[in-house]
Amino acid sequence: MTATDLEFAQHLSTTPKTVEQREAILADPGFGNHFTDHTAIVDFSVDADGKGGWSNARVEPYGPIALDPAAAVLHYGQEIFEGMKAYRHADGSIWTFRADANAARLNRSAARLALPQLPEPIFLESLRQLVSADRDWIPTGEGESLYLRPFMIATEAFLGVRPAREVSFRVIASPAGNYFGGELKPVSIWVSRNFARAGRGGTGAAKCGGNYAASLAAQLEAEANDCKQVLFLDQFNDNAVEELGGMNVFFVFKDGSLVTPALSGTILEGVTRSSVIQLGRDRGMNVVERKITLDEWRDGVATGDITEVFACGTAAVITPIGQLKDGDEIIGAPDARPGEVTMSIRSQLLGIQTGTAEDVHGWLTRL
Ligand code: PMP
Repeated sequence: MTATDLEFAQHLSTTPKTVEQREAILADPGFGNHFTDHTAIVDFSVDADGKGGWSNARVEPYGPIALDPAAAVLHYGQEIFEGMKAYRHADGSIWTFRADANAARLNRSAARLALPQLPEPIFLESLRQLVSADRDWIPTGEGESLYLRPFMIATEAFLGVRPAREVSFRVIASPAGNYFGGELKPVSIWVSRNFARAGRGGTGAAKCGGNYAASLAAQLEAEANDCKQVLFLDQFNDNAVEELGGMNVFFVFKDGSLVTPALSGTILEGVTRSSVIQLGRDRGMNVVERKITLDEWRDGVATGDITEVFACGTAAVITPIGQLKDGDEIIGAPDARPGEVTMSIRSQLLGIQTGTAEDVHGWLTRL
């Protein structure tokens, strides 16, 4: 299906935020606090012959969703989502980063959660439609962007456990500043020993709400220990490092190599992760996707073999990891300064996204 097969009806808001209200929000957006005036929606249903299709594409005013209390998403968590950003460049044009990778990941998540495949042109057109209705909502300060949250939910009212035959795909948008707030500082990480986020054969590689629900108790534990994020380990595989609650992890070694945990089926394949792998290779670094254990992290920091550790994801881009707390043990220095490699890759990536560095890989799509 091409994007033109599906015309988006325009039901624009008659009560959008005033210019003053919007400007007050854009002056200090934070992360995930405020939403734009519209939402893009496309529905899916299966007909009597068992044939499924997408229809009823529209842009509507942002607002509550009317759902039947028996909707499958409310009972069995049949839901997936994506996270990406729209950037306004200096000439006023609006771009998104590697949208094809997000569309592909949404469809991998859909396959795992028994949700329908969404053709990439519909995914892209939904983003375009929403961004065009809400183009005044993109903040332009340093590190700021419009965070886009595409998601798919099972709306069918049916309590039997089977894949829903009615589904809705939506996109909402939220102006975004710095994820961790304030200036860029190394984040502190709590090692989760009591909780796992995912297991073999589970949904760890899918971006589904349930994974995040499962991470919250660990996140609370982290906060109770003055840490910002949680590190998940594979306890059944020598405490191999998996990922943070919402970011992938990279290690810079003294010998010039860049190491990140291999995709094991239990971690999310981050779009930022694959971009960092490419940018590392472009610089001639030896980039290795392999198993790296907590013991190797501890020993590598102690011997100086590991010189920098950073986390990466769409929301926080690239964030240096300062100290890692494993119970009473602390790995790394609390006042560690952001490393050189970390900051250099970060500024190149941000430069590509915001239009100040060359997009050598053709990662940007104009919205
Ligand atoms: N891991 C998890 C668990 C995440 O939620 C995210 C954020 N989507 C990432 C890694 C990083 O993925 P991306 O670079 O695509 O944002």
